[in-house]
Amino acid sequence: MQILLVEDDRPLAQGLQKALQNRGYTVNHVTEGKAALHVIKTERPDILVLDIGLPDISGLKILRQLRSKQDMLPVLLLTARDSIDDKVAGLDSGADDYLPKPFEMTELFARLRVLERRLASVKSSAITIGDVCLDTIEQMVTFKGQALELSRREYMLLKNLMENAGRVLTRETLETRLYNWGEEVSSNALEVHIHHLRKKIGDGFIKTIRGVGYKVNTETA
Ligand code: CA
Repeated sequence: MQILLVEDDRPLAQGLQKALQNRGYTVNHVTEGKAALHVIKTERPDILVLDIGLPDISGLKILRQLRSKQDMLPVLLLTARDSIDDKVAGLDSGADDYLPKPFEMTELFARLRVLERRLASVKSSAITIGDVCLDTIEQMVTFKGQALELSRREYMLLKNLMENAGRVLTRETLETRLYNWGEEVSSNALEVHIHHLRKKIGDGFIKTIRGVGYKVNTETA
C-alpha cells in the first residue's frame, strides 16, 4: 500500500513517515501542494494523507481539484484546526476521512485500515479482462471504455463467465445460474444470449467449448 504524505511540518512528517513505514506502508513525502499534484499524476499513490494548511495550495483546494476531475483517490485530511467548519468543508470537498491534530498514531492507523478495506472492496468489484470491464456494484459493463446496454440475463451470463475466467462453465451450470428454478427455458436460449453478447463485445471473447459449454480466458490477447 503506497501512501503519499503531504505535510509541510517536517518533524511531524518524518515521525509519521517512520511510523507508517514500520507498519509496512510505502510512504512518499512532499511538503507542498504543487509537488503533491505532480506525484499524484505521475506515481499514483493508493492513499493520500493530506494536510490542509500547506504553503502554496491548500489541502482543500487540492482535494476539490481531484474530485472535480472525478479522481476518487482515497484522501485522509489532516488539520491543526479542530473546528467543525474545517471538518464540514473537508468532507464537503470529498475527503474520505478527517483527522484533527494532534492525533495518536493508533488513530491514524485505524483510519487508514478503514480506507484500505474500502479500497479493497472497490477494487474487487470490477473485473477487467482484455477490453471488457464488468463492475459488479454498478452492474455495468464497458467495452473499450464504452458503456454497453445488456439485458439482465446477458449481464448475468457475462458476470458468471468473467468471475470464472479460465474455467469452462457447462451449459447446465450457466442455465441454473441464469434462470429461476422451474422456469421454462427454451433449448437454444443460452445460445441466443451468447450470440447477442458476441455482437456487443466481439466474437473472440467468449469461447465455445463444443458439446460442453463456454469459457472466457483470463487474458484475451
Ligand atoms: Ca501545515
